[in-house]
Order: sequence, then C-alpha cells, then structure tokens
Amino acid sequence: MEKDLKIAIIGAGVSGLIAAQVLENNGFEPIIYEKTDRVGGRVKTDLMDGYQLDHGFQVLLDAYPMANKYLDYKDLELQKFLPGAAIYAKGKKVVIGDPLRKLSLLFPTLTSGIGSLSDKYHILKLNTELKKKSIEAIFKDTEITTMAYLKNRGFSDEIISSFFNPFFTGIFLEEELRTSSRMFQFVYKMFGMGNATLPKAGIGAIPQQLAQNLKRTKIIFNTTLESCEDGKLLFKDGSTKRIDYTIIATESSALVKNMRNQKVQWKSCQTLYFTVPKNKDSRPLIGLVPKKDSFINNIFFHNTLSTKNSGPDELLSVTVVKDHNFTESELITQVKTELQTACDIKNANYLKTYNIPKALPDLTNIAASISPTETRLTDTLFLAGDYLVNGSLNAAMLSGENAALGLLEVAKGKSL
Ligand SMILES: Cc1cc2nc3c(=O)[nH]c(=O)nc-3n(C[C@H](O)[C@H](O)[C@H](O)COP(=O)(O)OP(=O)(O)OC[C@H]3O[C@@H](n4cnc5c(N)ncnc54)[C@H](O)[C@@H]3O)c2cc1C
Repeated sequence: MEKDLKIAIIGAGVSGLIAAQVLENNGFEPIIYEKTDRVGGRVKTDLMDGYQLDHGFQVLLDAYPMANKYLDYKDLELQKFLPGAAIYAKGKKVVIGDPLRKLSLLFPTLTSGIGSLSDKYHILKLNTELKKKSIEAIFKDTEITTMAYLKNRGFSDEIISSFFNPFFTGIFLEEELRTSSRMFQFVYKMFGMGNATLPKAGIGAIPQQLAQNLKRTKIIFNTTLESCEDGKLLFKDGSTKRIDYTIIATESSALVKNMRNQKVQWKSCQTLYFTVPKNKDSRPLIGLVPKKDSFINNIFFHNTLSTKNSGPDELLSVTVVKDHNFTESELITQVKTELQTACDIKNANYLKTYNIPKALPDLTNIAASISPTETRLTDTLFLAGDYLVNGSLNAAMLSGENAALGLLEVAKGKSL
C-alpha cells in the first residue's frame, strides 16, 4: 500500500510543499520536517502594527507555468503591478513602461528622455522575439552574462544604466548583471506574457495556500535535520528515524555526507520597511534609483496595490542589494537620506529590516528544468529546491514536482 511507505520531505518551502502535493495526489502520506515554526521558507509575510511585511520584496510573475498549474490565483486575490517602472534620477521621477500593454504609459515613455529611438526599437524587437521563443529554447541558448547580452543586442549604455541595470539588479540581486542571459530572457518573457503580482495578503499567502491544499501530509515544525542517508534520518536533537524515501527540499550539501564540497553560493539583499504619511502617485510601479553609488536599489509603495494593511499610513519597502559595512542604524540613516535626496520622500518612519543572506542561489549553467531521474541522489534520497534549476518560484515548484515524480517512479516500481 502506498500509504504504508514512509516518506519524509525536509523543508516546508515552496519546493517541499509541491513535492508533498504530488505525493498526496498519488496516494502517499508524506511527513514534512521543517526547522522553523511555519511554512514558506524564503516566502513569508509578517504582520506588524497592521502592516504586511514580506521577507524581502518579491513578486509572483503570473505567467510562470508552474504557478498557473499549482496556485489558485483567484483565491490569492492577485494584485497587478503596472508593466513599467518609476525612475528617480537627476532629482526627477520619470515613468517608463510597455505602452503596447498599457496605453496610458505611451506618453510618459515617449517623453521620459530615457533611452534613444534605437533603444525603443531594440525593446520592441526583443519583446517580439522572446514572445515567440519557447522556454526550452531560451535555456538551450549559449550562456553569457545579461550585461553582455544587452550590449550585444545594441542597447545604449544610457538605457542599460538607467533602466535595465537597476531593474534587473532588483531581480537578480547582484549589481553587475553577471547573471545568465538565459535567466534574463526567461524573466523578460514572463514579464511580457503576464504581470508582476502580489497576493492581497502578501507573498506569504502563496505557501499558505499550498499548505492548506495538503490533506494527508503531516507537517512537523521546529524540527531540524542534522543529516540524511539511505533509510535513516538523524535529527539535530540526536534522535533518529527509519524512513523508506526522503526528498531534501533545501540545500543538500549541509545534510548529506560527501556533498560538503558542493555548497551553493548565495546572493543576499536587505529589505527595509518604512511608513510614510502620503504618497502622491497611486500607480503601482516599482521605483528604481539608478545612481551607481546609491544604496537603494528599488522602492515600492505597497498601498498602491490593494492589500490587507490596516495601519494608518502608507507602507514603503526599500531594497538594498549593494554590499556595505554599515551597522543597522547607519544603514537606516543612509536609506532615509537617499529617500529624501533621490526620491523626495520625507518623514519616512522606520519599521523593520529583513537581512536575507541566502536570498537567491548564485548559479551558472542554469536550466529550464531538472528531470525526475536527475533528482535522484542515491537509492532513496531525492533532491528538490530552486538552486537545482534557477532561482525562482517557478523553479522551486518544478523541482518539487520532479523530485516527487522521480521518487514515485522508484517507489511504485518496487512496491506495486
Ligand atoms: C528577497 C527575495 C526576493 C525574491 N524574489 C523573487 C521574485 O521576485 N520572483 C521569484 O520567482 N522568486 C523570487 N525569489 C526566490 C524564491 O523565493 C525562491 O526561489 C523559493 O522560495 C525557493 O523555495 P525552496 O523551496 O527551493 O527553498 P526555501 O524557501 O529556502 O525552503 C527551504 C526550507 O527548508 C527548511 N530547512 C532548511 N534546512 C533544514 C533542516 N536542516 N531541517 C529542516 N528544515 C530545513 C527551511 O527552513 C525552509 O523552510 C526571491 C527570494 C528572496 C529571498
């Protein structure tokens, strides 16, 4: 019987929750062991003084194929960003956007002074090309850096430094755009095919929904694995458990012997939250500060989307990607100064900082997917997690699904 097989999943992040769903769909009853007190991993939302604070500013691209497959968008009450950005440069704010998708952005884009006519032509060409190009074809492309890719395509230094660089720094969490051109194309395509969105209750609503869908999975919180081997789990408190199969849905190098030299490199960021009295612009646009020496990469006024915030003021998030040696209070002072000088935002009241040292895996040779068989590490150990594919929610879901399918192939082959 399927349900008599003992299957453990390590980690209740998005990849672990999807793995559990696929196993449940096939009649199994896995147990998830999670070291923290809740689901979500890197995707969490806190409530503080009535404000929803996501653990790092992040968005769900609703064109992600796996998100379409596993999430109920209606139930999440997805709120859409406008397809564009507000750029704070030289003491001014200018709005640029994709006028083909949002006509009201046509005029501001044409008059923004950002990018030459030739840049606008190259953007149109890129949009058309990527719309037609399949995800598989994108991930088969020769891999160069995003910066080299943009230059090869003929974009001017000006549009790279005022738009592409700050925009994709906020997505890739590194400032040089050394991230794979495959990832650039994939993300650009996803932006073109759909919208950047946030659930009304914050990004944490995504794993909450995935967890609520699980009916026969047991999740055991505050339980940390020390190591995993075939047939056996060793917990941090010294206890052990016999197990038939395990999916490690987090970085495996810390848990499996002989993998200690396969440590993942990570990219970090910090997100600071402030409340501000009133924002004059009600358009949901990500704000970029393209100045090279600026510590602020992007800002977002969360109340420009419909949220469940009940605090009296507006909520502003600020993301810092640049490395620095500031103490927390020095960073807050620096960010407040830049908010005033670059964005003309005065009276920002500090709420909280999220330091995220392991935000995105720093990968080369990134893939569109990992096959079910490739997720198999040993006879009974399987791997999941975004770091196996590419750093995104789509990749986390894909890896979780394929780890479960890989396990099913083996388990069903043996026991049925
Ligand atoms: C600031 C930030 C911005 C991002 N922006 C975007 C974005 O805009 N769009 C996008 O698509 N993606 C974005 N991402 C990436 C996305 O959040 C991740 O790809 C995804 O959440 C990874 O899920 P996962 O299941 O692979 O890993 P994780 O979420 O890391 O889950 C691993 C889980 O395992 C648990 N765990 C670890 N070790 C143990 C142990 N020893 N024992 C028990 N449990 C353990 C952890 O507590 C955690 O819950 C962003 C991430 C961050 C942090």
